[in-house]
Amino acid sequence: MDLESADVVERARTGKVTKEGALHMVHDTSLLFKIADELRSEAAGDVVTYVINRNINFTNTCIGNCAFCAFKKERGYVLSMEQILQKVEEAVARGATEICIQGGLLKGATLDFYCEMLACIKSHFDVHLHAFSPMEVFHAAENSNVDVQDALKTLKRSGLDSMPGTAAEVLDDDIRRKICPSKVSAAQWIDTITTAHRMKIPTTATIMYGHIETLEHWINHLLLIRDIQKKTKGFTEFIPLSFMPENNGLGEIARGLTSMDSLKMHALSRVLLYPYITNIQASWVKLGRKLARETLFCGVNDLGGTLMEEHITRSAGGTEGEYMSPEEFEEIIASAGRIPRRRTTLYELI
Ligand code: SF4
Repeated sequence: MDLESADVVERARTGKVTKEGALHMVHDTSLLFKIADELRSEAAGDVVTYVINRNINFTNTCIGNCAFCAFKKERGYVLSMEQILQKVEEAVARGATEICIQGGLLKGATLDFYCEMLACIKSHFDVHLHAFSPMEVFHAAENSNVDVQDALKTLKRSGLDSMPGTAAEVLDDDIRRKICPSKVSAAQWIDTITTAHRMKIPTTATIMYGHIETLEHWINHLLLIRDIQKKTKGFTEFIPLSFMPENNGLGEIARGLTSMDSLKMHALSRVLLYPYITNIQASWVKLGRKLARETLFCGVNDLGGTLMEEHITRSAGGTEGEYMSPEEFEEIIASAGRIPRRRTTLYELI
């Protein structure tokens, strides 16, 4: 190992990799994977977790105009409360401990709309509600003329347990102007997330990679997430989300993504976020089961949830279906020589 590599490895072990160090490491893939695997072992051991959950996308109508979206429809659906409750009931009967709720930005939807959904589910079921991206919270707050902090307070009182850190895409306003011009800015995403953390609402963190962004954007994004986590400790995990190119305008100009790119993304996430974020999750629905298993050797210690229902990735070309059973999780994890464990949303082992 040359001196520069030895220095990067030492920095990785102490959570101090710089942008230059990350750029150096990413060109030596075997070193990157080796150190990512080592840090995974130190942070999470050999246990690989998954959660029994159900996605509910309550509407596919949206006032947004994201260039990567294949989900939104002009004449879409809005689920009734009765339909939502029925989905929750089915999920709970199948062992779900988490319901993940996200949807399009429904024109004029106020906080009451979002709160009623949470409160109604909570009044019927004892289940963790992982709901509403920072964009949805921002949208609800704006429509109700309250600030984000007040919106989060009201949502929490109504039953919000944690939030998905989606809508992050790439936290760079030049990229955002091109791929999601009407979404929250990077600063507004950060403000909503850090406000949630201050109010003891944990969130995940994500990146959508593999379109028009560069390696430097990956690294800047990861270092930004690391800085937030150092201050708030509010992220439960980091989830790289690979861009799905079908049925959307961005797919026509995206640079294309290889399996190796995805492995590097997951390994870099582990290395740059160590030791501040313990859990690095691979999304089986986007990567596919085979590649998701490969990420277990590149820093990943969690394979996400059973989902039971999935519209967003499928509409953009995903072919992995909408459900992965607990038995299948256990089989994939064990076949990689790891120990499968079921977990709650907040990573308590069950
Ligand atoms: S990605 Fe979400 S916010 Fe953007 S257009 Fe699609 S549904 Fe709307």
